[in-house]
Amino acid sequence: MKIDDWLLDILACPACKAPLRADTDADELACTSDTCGLIYPVRDDIPVLLVDEARKA
Ligand SMILES: [Zn+2]
Repeated sequence: MKIDDWLLDILACPACKAPLRADTDADELACTSDTCGLIYPVRDDIPVLLVDEARKA
């Protein structure tokens, strides 16, 4: 997975608006909020920022 830094900068968790952290090993984007903790999948290098698609950490 390759997520550009500028893209990561403008992305935010749709549930709590916290910044996201790229987990390149797992092809996922993790919410940086301790209270939220949702993890979003990345499919074909496109982040799927949908709460319905996210999983709990
Ligand atoms: Zn969040």
